[in-house]
Amino acid sequence: MTFDKLDLIEPILNALSHEGYTQPTPIQEISIPIVLKGHDLLGCAQTGTGKTAAFAIPILQLLQLNKGAERAPRKIKALIVTPTRELAIQIGESFAAYGRFMNLRHTVIFGGVPQGAQVGALKMGVDILIATPGRLLDLQTQGYVKLNELSIFVLDEADRMLDMGFIHDVKKLIKIIPAKRQSLFFSATMPESIRVLAGSILTNPEEVAV
Ligand code: AMP
Repeated sequence: MTFDKLDLIEPILNALSHEGYTQPTPIQEISIPIVLKGHDLLGCAQTGTGKTAAFAIPILQLLQLNKGAERAPRKIKALIVTPTRELAIQIGESFAAYGRFMNLRHTVIFGGVPQGAQVGALKMGVDILIATPGRLLDLQTQGYVKLNELSIFVLDEADRMLDMGFIHDVKKLIKIIPAKRQSLFFSATMPESIRVLAGSILTNPEEVAV
């Protein structure tokens, strides 16, 4: 199996060659077609399986193919919520790598640092926002994050999110984002509490476990 079989667009295939990736990992092989078709996804996968690319690659492709007029100001179309600053930064690096030959903009926001630089980046306009829950809600409340144009929502490492006490933030967020959206939900483990949360976020999801 090579990436060529996944119906990916040229700038993404070129970026993957640039990264030195020759073949998709199992989660990528299964998830990329599902996400490209617009389905919701419930993914049971650990870090290290290539799950970041499994959502970043099809998101970049969907946004690239649905791009409107270049002159329009950028609106947040995809939101990735992850529990830690380190994960947020890594995910941002993945979007930078796989999107290197495309003109889509992303930024990363997380707590524990002054908000000025993050607000500045948001004001420039971004297509993709990667965020930890607390800072996201904080900047949304202040009016710097507008989620009304959101079409793709990713909840990453959901089990860790709950362990870290972010359940209320996640529930608040779900009320803010548009109901009509594509949602992807990833967790390393799938206890009942996580399935219940997934059920409140996803619509007819395809399930993938690796
Ligand atoms: P992740 O599970 O998303 O944290 O990814 C784990 C690591 O695998 C990261 O360092 C990626 O750069 C790398 N990686 C992801 N997909 C591939 C692939 N198809 N081929 C080679 N390396 C990959």
